[in-house]
Amino acid sequence: MELLIPEGTGRFVGEVRRFARALAPHVPEMERLGKTPRDVLLACGKAGLTGMEVPREYGGLGAGPLAYALAIEEVSRVSASLGAVLSVHNSVGALPIAAFGTDAQKKELLPKIASGEHLAGFAVTEAGAGSDVSSVTTTAVRKGNEWVLDGVKLFISNGSGEVINVLAATEGRRGASGQTMFIVRKGDPGFRVGAVERKMGIHADETCELVFEGCRIPADRVLGRENEGFKLAMQALDIGRIGIAAQCVGAAAGALESAIAQVRSTPRLAASQAALFALAGCATEIDAARLLVWRAADRKERGQVATVAASMAKLYASACANRTAIRLMEVMGAGALPAGNPFERLLRDSKVFEIYEGTSEIHQLIISRRLLGSWSFEKGME
Ligand SMILES: Cc1cc2nc3c(=O)[nH]c(=O)nc-3n(C[C@H](O)[C@H](O)[C@H](O)COP(=O)(O)OP(=O)(O)OC[C@H]3O[C@@H](n4cnc5c(N)ncnc54)[C@H](O)[C@@H]3O)c2cc1C
Repeated sequence: MELLIPEGTGRFVGEVRRFARALAPHVPEMERLGKTPRDVLLACGKAGLTGMEVPREYGGLGAGPLAYALAIEEVSRVSASLGAVLSVHNSVGALPIAAFGTDAQKKELLPKIASGEHLAGFAVTEAGAGSDVSSVTTTAVRKGNEWVLDGVKLFISNGSGEVINVLAATEGRRGASGQTMFIVRKGDPGFRVGAVERKMGIHADETCELVFEGCRIPADRVLGRENEGFKLAMQALDIGRIGIAAQCVGAAAGALESAIAQVRSTPRLAASQAALFALAGCATEIDAARLLVWRAADRKERGQVATVAASMAKLYASACANRTAIRLMEVMGAGALPAGNPFERLLRDSKVFEIYEGTSEIHQLIISRRLLGSWSFEKGME
């Protein structure tokens, strides 16, 4: 497999690695806070990390899917939470605006999204619409020069951010063909952040309930075309899932790095074949997951459809992160248990990896439907 690697990718990823390593001492505080502070987001902006999918003319890097995946892996080695925040911000937050927004929307929003002054999110999930996106019941009704949104979204990453792409059922219609994506902004009348979830993992990704009560937004906030929101959401999720798969690889690789250091410095562990086999097994699986991520990103880089490739990467990488956590904890024994150490954190975070941006069951359905359809190895990745 020959990857299409855009010029400058190696340099950018090297800079991200240095940036992420320098951030490491602040990660425990971010986890305690339950969110990524604005000064960290602004520093990410300076490092190019909040504008990876924003074209250069709007102040972004226009870096492309491969650089994005490599950068998310580097960040997630240090903080899977920040990896999630940046993956969501870039892929399902910024990219749909860059790809489907009007000139006015792009001019107004993308520069601040690229700089990290505006944090972006994507709100689909509701109490009765998680895996089944077509069941969204948040409504959008046109009234004169405005749209009025009503409904409640749950578990929204970056939900307290400035710009949220919100999927709603248009004008009383139901199902995938009756959904529109809207850009909702912090401060829009009738829009508020509700409860902030206290979750088992990914603590620095602030995950919120969003409430729309007669929320009025100008008519020009439709993102893309009316009633084509479902399609737009699915396209955005392809690149989102590549980011989350890269996040899983980074988080697992970060924990493995810590385990290698501990085994090196602990004669009892270095002499234990069980420990050595665990390291070798984890390293092999992480590399396999990484290759799946690169293949999916490479397809996107070439402008090819990558839905199944992204599902395979996300399915395998999230399971790999979970297995890595368990195997490394078994090797480390009680030393892996104190709160905040890399192994217990990976165990908590990796359960979340298997749920958001499509559960493992949903990815198996996407892959198996392709297998039962007109499958060939090449077509199988679409
Ligand atoms: C930390 C975190 C951040 C999140 N961020 C966002 C966000 O930014 N934006 C957003 O919109 N959402 C977000 N989500 C929500 C996430 O996308 C959903 O939780 C996920 O899609 C699953 O939906 P659900 O929780 O409603 O579970 P359900 O869809 O109710 O599924 C429950 C179980 O049933 C299984 N299942 C469901 N349907 C099928 C089927 N057809 N066949 C087989 N099994 C099935 C599922 O795999 C799962 O095991 C986030 C979630 C978390 C935990």
